Amino acid sequence: MSQSSHKLSLTARIFIGMVAGIVIGALLQLISDDSGDLRFSIFSVEVSTYNILIDGIFSTLGQIFISSLKMLVVPLVFVSLICGTSSLSEPSKLGRLGIKSISLYILTTCIAITLAIVAAILVQPGAGVDVVTEANYTATQAPPLSDVILNMFPTNPINAMAQGNMLQIIIFAVLFGVAMAMSGDAGKRVAAFFEDINAIIMRLVTIIMNLAPYGVFVLMAKLFATTGYDTIISLAWYFCLVLVVLAIHGLVTYPILLKLFTGLSPLILMQKMRDAAIFAFSTSSSSATLPVTIETARNKLGVGKSVSSFTLPLGATINMDGTAIMQGVATVFIAQYFAVDLSVGDYVMVVLTATLASIGTAGVPGVGLIMLAMVLQQVNLPVEGIALIIGVDRLLDMTRTAVNITGDCTVATIIAKSEGELDEAMFNDPNAGAKQEEVDFENFSRNS
Ligand code: ASP
Repeated sequence: MSQSSHKLSLTARIFIGMVAGIVIGALLQLISDDSGDLRFSIFSVEVSTYNILIDGIFSTLGQIFISSLKMLVVPLVFVSLICGTSSLSEPSKLGRLGIKSISLYILTTCIAITLAIVAAILVQPGAGVDVVTEANYTATQAPPLSDVILNMFPTNPINAMAQGNMLQIIIFAVLFGVAMAMSGDAGKRVAAFFEDINAIIMRLVTIIMNLAPYGVFVLMAKLFATTGYDTIISLAWYFCLVLVVLAIHGLVTYPILLKLFTGLSPLILMQKMRDAAIFAFSTSSSSATLPVTIETARNKLGVGKSVSSFTLPLGATINMDGTAIMQGVATVFIAQYFAVDLSVGDYVMVVLTATLASIGTAGVPGVGLIMLAMVLQQVNLPVEGIALIIGVDRLLDMTRTAVNITGDCTVATIIAKSEGELDEAMFNDPNAGAKQEEVDFENFSRNS
């Protein structure tokens, strides 16, 4: 069977997997009884769908899919950053890339949170809401800022890798790469070795991406079979408002920034982000999606290696615009719910702390909500207010993660263009990357 025998593109297959998962999950929820289970008998043995299908097959396969993505993150970030930094022709470029990335990331986050606060003040989602809170919520202490900064520097790089501490890995890899570039022949030999490993890891990324239609299917089916929809109705205003602001930021702010800084077509960027966005949506983790984000930036958007390998891991760790949006809307919502008036000074404080909180948020599911505690404390709002919104956070988490990684790719494209490292022919080619994404499992030794 040849590679071209797949009639549908990978993107289409992943999309079908997602929609089918949502439909099957919602149907399972609909037909299950009040206890949340659908039981029937086979040969007089009572079978529980919940146990076998949802908690068993869907949950296990979904976890395996997420684990296999996460498995690639540490080696990928480490190796590709070493390759990226050691190949930088001028040492000053690293500093420039760093300053540009961090400034743009902070700029987009500030825009995001400002949009969120303004929208929440206008819509007033918290006025007159009567929610049944999840009574046993205990607020987790958000780490102090000084710890967040101190934590960036590794004392033991192996430990950093074992714990998947992204900022520490980034710092070690950058230093290692710089030292390699300064080490003459020894550096060149090691660089060639890392380049080969990099190519192999990227191949592994595409192999796992080819299994994504099934992975995404089981994740969606499990989630939609187990999500309670009642809370969404009582929090409809909050829920919809976060979604609308996320959509505005993703579909208006990023396109404007891209057009402004590069003149490139935002429509093309959005189309090419589909796969990565679905990955982010179904895993709720920028970190787990990172391999796909890097693949998209390099093979579809034409972002050069040194920019993509530096800017994207950094973005997956510190740039969380979607999370900042949730935190902005949630803060105003909680203030309105408890009838606390926030002053202009308080709002400025919210913008500052939510920006820092989103920088400190790890790219894994649900952490944005924990970091919200830091924002609430800053303006003396009850941290227990988080209990109000926790019920709908899982669904919002999926959507904001998709926005988070779209922001990372938009910034990487802008920086690549400004550094002369954007392959515009690839950016404009609608089929770019399709070839690299194909994996012929039946003739795998002939894949190249
Ligand atoms: N799940 C988000 C991410 O990985 C972080 C969060 O908002 O909880 O990007």
